[in-house]
Amino acid sequence: MGLLFLERLEGEGVFRCRRCRVDAASKDAIISRDFFGRTGRAYLFDHVVNICLGPNEDRYLVTGLHTVNDIYCSCCQQILGWRYEKAYEQSEKYKEGKYILERARMVKDGSVVGLVENTVGAKVSGKVEIWAIASGITASDL
Ligand SMILES: [Zn+2]
Repeated sequence: MGLLFLERLEGEGVFRCRRCRVDAASKDAIISRDFFGRTGRAYLFDHVVNICLGPNEDRYLVTGLHTVNDIYCSCCQQILGWRYEKAYEQSEKYKEGKYILERARMVKDGSVVGLVENTVGAKVSGKVEIWAIASGITASDL
C-alpha cells in the first residue's frame, strides 16, 4: 500500500478512529451534535483528517435527498460516517462539504491511548508514536 501519511491534531478533545486510533477530527470543528447515523448519535464536523472518500451516492435521508460520500479511515479503512456533497433542500445547504462522524465508531482522547502507553511501557511524548504502536505500524513506515 506504500507510505501512509497521517495528520495529527493538537489540543484537547480529539476524536479518533475506534479501530486504529488515528486522529479523525477535533471537537473545535463540531458544527452540531444533533445528528444520527447508522449506529446512533453522530456529529457534524466542519473538517476532518485522515479519511478517504467513497463514490458519490444519492440518498434519501430524514431531511430529504442528498448526494453523499461514505468516509473511511485512511489507515484501517473502517467506515466512519459520510460527507454531504450536495443537499437539494435549501434549508439543508449548510451541510454541503461537511462531514458526519458516527460517535460509536470514534473514541475521544484518551483512556485507550494511555493504556497502550502503559502496556508498552514507553514514555512517548508525541502522538504519532502512540499511533504507530496502536496500529502496528513501525516507525520506519511513518
Ligand atoms: Zn482507523
